[in-house]
Amino acid sequence: MSRVAERASRPRHPAEDARVFLFHCAEYDVARIRAIVGGVLSELGLHPAGRTLVKPNLVCAGEPFAHAYTRPEIVEGVLGALKDAERRDDPMTELAVGERCAITIPTRFVFREAGYDPMLERAGAKRYCFEEVPQVEIPLTHEGRLRDYLFTPEPVAKADFFVNCPKFKAHPWTTVTFSMKNYIGIQDDRHRLIDHDHALNRKVADLQYIVQPQLVVIDAIVAGEGRMLTPIPRNMNLVIVGNNQVAIDAVGCRIIGLDPLSVEHVRLAHERGFGPVSLDEIRLGGDVTLDEAKQRAKGFQVGLVRVEKYFEGTSIQAYAGPAPTRGLKKTGAPGATSSDDHYCWGGCPGVMEEVIEVLRLADEHCDRKLPRIHLVFGKYEGALDVGYGEKVIFVGDCVEWSGKLGGELVHVRSKYVEREDLDPYGARHKDVYARMLKMANKLRELRARPWIRLEGCPVSVGELILLLAELGGINNPYFDRRAVVGFNRAYLAWRATDAWKRLTGSSYQVRGPTERGAARPDVTPPARGASSDATKERDGADTTAE
Ligand code: SF4
Repeated sequence: MSRVAERASRPRHPAEDARVFLFHCAEYDVARIRAIVGGVLSELGLHPAGRTLVKPNLVCAGEPFAHAYTRPEIVEGVLGALKDAERRDDPMTELAVGERCAITIPTRFVFREAGYDPMLERAGAKRYCFEEVPQVEIPLTHEGRLRDYLFTPEPVAKADFFVNCPKFKAHPWTTVTFSMKNYIGIQDDRHRLIDHDHALNRKVADLQYIVQPQLVVIDAIVAGEGRMLTPIPRNMNLVIVGNNQVAIDAVGCRIIGLDPLSVEHVRLAHERGFGPVSLDEIRLGGDVTLDEAKQRAKGFQVGLVRVEKYFEGTSIQAYAGPAPTRGLKKTGAPGATSSDDHYCWGGCPGVMEEVIEVLRLADEHCDRKLPRIHLVFGKYEGALDVGYGEKVIFVGDCVEWSGKLGGELVHVRSKYVEREDLDPYGARHKDVYARMLKMANKLRELRARPWIRLEGCPVSVGELILLLAELGGINNPYFDRRAVVGFNRAYLAWRATDAWKRLTGSSYQVRGPTERGAARPDVTPPARGASSDATKERDGADTTAE
């Protein structure tokens, strides 16, 4: 990528001219989406060059998750527009689409289920399953960071031109998932789970230092209300495009009637200089006004509901005590408030809410079939209202409780590991078949006595699905005939690829300084010893070519 082009197409930071465009789009029409995105690229004077990477939200796909992911028509339109805007004298050296979907599930399976594979072939774009490429280290130096480095897939670190293509959805852990929250998919399972608890918003804000998009295109044609894995579809008929993700998320919040500063990751990124939230500092464009967009989203439900309330009136009774706060207090992260820290919004309670919705979709009689269950989270000091024969599940590493159950005196002690002691270098992959076996053992345990304890920080969605499906005799979505063969084939292919790489000496986790592409944000100082051509060229251009 040439110096001049790189300077022209680098993400601006802090956003000098934050632009957000709202466009009407009645349906998933590739030609219309291509024209919309092409128009914005032209207006912003953007030309993709070098390693160009598009990141959709493919958290999950398949029938129960039909509204959870960025539709392939959006990405096909984006890829077409990028090719239209490419300059011959400064071409793209790679055009790729990359993602890490929900943990445990092979991304190659979700790409296929979501209909991406034939689309990528048509568009001539490469596919990256982020858990199948090397993970490289990105140092962090900003004040209030959760840790000193993060791991991300190599193609993300090396991207010169980065396009974020999220789905417009509510989220039970972070209120909304628009552009910034889509970054949870730029980490593989083992690294994603670190700080995926009551620090989740802060983790999302820290991920912003890895890469910044030159372009954001949000799929809000059919948006998702209430939840993130199984959202309630909401026709908004919008494609939202912009050049700064704080600005675009702030506009997204305003569309659904939220103060952007009430969403912690938006506020933190704004305070750290990643972009504006005030409409005075954001230039709006497109063919739909903000007021019209607000009308389309009137009454939009976000998913932030405490777990006790969420399960009211069902056979599940939840009890949530406070989660540990020590590690967070120590970091002195700006914005850490005691009320945020008391309830684990980013962890186990939200996992449970998503799990039950997946089971409800898999089996319409789910609520009737489930026996009465008591779920305990955090350090809970109250009594449990457990009747004869009812079961108690203590959820997560941090759970603590003492009392009598079925005549037995029970002491559940915290196994929570302080976040300072969690080492991303030591994080390991957890095998899905081992998880299944573990749940089968837990189930046996639960049949023999009134309680069990599930470990994890957070606990795994997949494990809870397996356990509750068996406990209630509910149709298990993991064993859905339509998906089971494809899932297992994709999982085994992924693990075989991984094993082969290890056998041939390739490192999965690469320590130390790494080469960064031009989409690296200005706020990140050069990686220690980084020697990318892009870095050298950019630094040279900054001082000589004005
Ligand atoms: S174990 Fe669960 S509830 Fe406890 S801190 Fe971790 S994610 Fe939160």
